[in-house]
Amino acid sequence: MNKSSTDNQSPIIDNRSQIKDQFNRVHDYLRISLTERCNLRCSYCMPAEGIQLRPRSEFMTAEEVIKMSKIFVSLGVKKIRLTGGEPLVRKDAEEIITGLSQLPVELAISTNGILVDKYIDTFKSCGLKSINVSLDSLKKEKFNTITRRDYFDKVMSNINLLMKNNFHVKINAVMIKGFNDDEICDLVEWMRDKNIHVRFIEFMPFDGNKWDWSKGISFKEIMTKIESRYGENVVKLEDGKNDTAKNYSIKNYKGTFAIISSVTNPFCDTCNRMRLTADGKIKNCLFSGTETDLLSAMRNGEDIVPMILESIWNKKAVRGGMESFEDFSDSSQNQKNRSMVAIGG
Ligand code: SF4
Repeated sequence: MNKSSTDNQSPIIDNRSQIKDQFNRVHDYLRISLTERCNLRCSYCMPAEGIQLRPRSEFMTAEEVIKMSKIFVSLGVKKIRLTGGEPLVRKDAEEIITGLSQLPVELAISTNGILVDKYIDTFKSCGLKSINVSLDSLKKEKFNTITRRDYFDKVMSNINLLMKNNFHVKINAVMIKGFNDDEICDLVEWMRDKNIHVRFIEFMPFDGNKWDWSKGISFKEIMTKIESRYGENVVKLEDGKNDTAKNYSIKNYKGTFAIISSVTNPFCDTCNRMRLTADGKIKNCLFSGTETDLLSAMRNGEDIVPMILESIWNKKAVRGGMESFEDFSDSSQNQKNRSMVAIGG
């Protein structure tokens, strides 16, 4: 990827209406983690015992989430996705969603689906249209194994509730070899008569998730399984400019499916994503080992715009600098990050 011709120019002198990195990628999509807490214990996301919980004062209040978001919107952010942990476990989630819905952005949320029924009216009144729900298996016992909790029925009924209310539902399914890869075609079959969008996600390395690629299923392996079952009925759909997923459908099926291949086929060229952690730090990449503390600066009354521009300007071309598969698989590199629960994916 070519660096822009203004390499050595400090980003601060660049305009303040757009967030760009040195590869000219415009960043207008902010993912905000609202909490490190969750009511599930998914094995690829956090250790069974959970993570060390910290005092509430270290985390953004609802007001601070909204104040920080307004600053990002003033810099050109057009989409905000709320993530966690599980964003809906926050007692003030409704206040945050309502506050953010006043901003000129597309608002979306990624949830494990357990509490969706409590927030469906808020989603509607706040104009949320796109809801991502994590679901790694259509089998109850497997769901309980990977999440270490017994919420399968609740999640399935809430997915149906979202569909009944015409939300655009995307299903995030992390593929683990020998665990749920036998369900790839079942998940495709599941969307035959449902307006649902199933996304198969390659298993990614994060702190504490005991990642090694022998447990992963690649884009190619997933496609081979689907093509061997559906052959010419597999249709490639057009991908959006900044899409992380490669999108497909099956002829005459109501839903669609996609594959997110951060491990075997990264899609960093068109990355427009920034992440704000629940404790107010900006991560310029999902896999970056470095962060910038915006919250402390904002609490000290400092101008955080130069810090945001600097963080993104210094973003690496690919996967936080882990360009090759070898680098990416090297635990001395990929473990310099947080656990997934503390980033929000
Ligand atoms: S790995 Fe980093 S640079 Fe690549 S798409 Fe994800 S967030 Fe963007």
